[in-house]
Amino acid sequence: MLHKLRDNFIANLLKQPFQQEDELSLYLISYAALIFCVLIHIFSLICYLIQDIPFFVFLNCGSLLVYLVVFLFLKRKKYKLGGFIISLEAILYASIGTYMCGISSYIIGYFLLVIVMLTLFPYGTANIRRIMILIILGLITLLGLRYAHTVPPIAFSEGFSHFMAMVNIYIMLIGTIIEISINTFVQFIISGVKEGRIVELASQIYTDPLTGLYNRRYTEIYFNTLKKQDPHICVAILDIDDFKKINDTYGHPCGDEILVFLSNFLHSNLRKTDRIFRWGGEEFLIIMEHVAIYDAQSVMDKLRNKLAETEIKTKQKGSLSITVTVGVAPFDITNPDAGIEASDTNLYIGKRRGKNQVVI
Ligand code: GH3
Ligand code: MG
Ligand code: MG
Repeated sequence: MLHKLRDNFIANLLKQPFQQEDELSLYLISYAALIFCVLIHIFSLICYLIQDIPFFVFLNCGSLLVYLVVFLFLKRKKYKLGGFIISLEAILYASIGTYMCGISSYIIGYFLLVIVMLTLFPYGTANIRRIMILIILGLITLLGLRYAHTVPPIAFSEGFSHFMAMVNIYIMLIGTIIEISINTFVQFIISGVKEGRIVELASQIYTDPLTGLYNRRYTEIYFNTLKKQDPHICVAILDIDDFKKINDTYGHPCGDEILVFLSNFLHSNLRKTDRIFRWGGEEFLIIMEHVAIYDAQSVMDKLRNKLAETEIKTKQKGSLSITVTVGVAPFDITNPDAGIEASDTNLYIGKRRGKNQVVI
């Protein structure tokens, strides 16, 4: 369920091209941080407007303007710069806020959020982030020392002071939990993206780009899935007759069209359980389960005959026809090479005997 939700989320996300997972993770983190910070400042702005404290109203409006700039940077994919400005804004807000209304306001708690953010998220190099954390610790110390014996310039009413202290403590705690959750969520998404890329990569490795058939590399994996005790497995190698001539006469692109046609033809004329591989240039390997050798021969012969009588309508050179020679042999899963070699030998016997035939 969770993985399905994640896959849908990733599918939507990947409609925008990301260079790498790093960029994707910065994208997610930056927008989450932006939304979180904007919500905090809107909430604070409303509180200060109600209490009519102009200094903090302006301070929060200033912060929101900064976030508008951050949004513009994020839209231009400047995630690191955006994240850096978010951290600077939070540091400045916490410093000015604490300087103006003292430690008891708990505005100082915003420093904690920035420290967590700098620890979890890769905005800037590790050294830049370490220096910023040191600066924050210095600021906390200086502000702490300043208010050891002095009264802050702006005094809130007692009730509002308690309320804001509570709000800021909650923001500090919930914010930290949100930051950690966002980090976990982003890791979860990134792992999904990686899995998706691995599956995509694997399918590229095992399929032939021209025909979409499995390629030779996939045969070993497929052989391992076959039941060892099944005595009725046959293998066929099918090779287009005089394909070189077709290429020479009609051109390579026309040859490609014929290969695609043949792969579709094989698919629609064989059973769903028969596996077809593109074995080489114009050679196809077919594994047929639950079939005796004489039945396999007859199936292949019908297929060969039907193909020889089929007009292939090519886009490039009008109607053409081809013939194939097929070598068939029993297939013993404990020794796949022997079966393949036997069908290959039969194929060459067929070629020598005049092509367009099936040999067992
Ligand atoms: P035979 O009847 O003995 O099989 O003769 P042939 O001409 O079919 O066999 P040969 O091995 O001499 O030539 C195979 C040709 O297949 C040569 C090669 O250029 C062509 N071929 C291999 N792969 C592709 C491909 O992907 N596209 C096209 N168009 N041609 C290909
Ligand atoms: Mg050939
Ligand atoms: Mg060949």
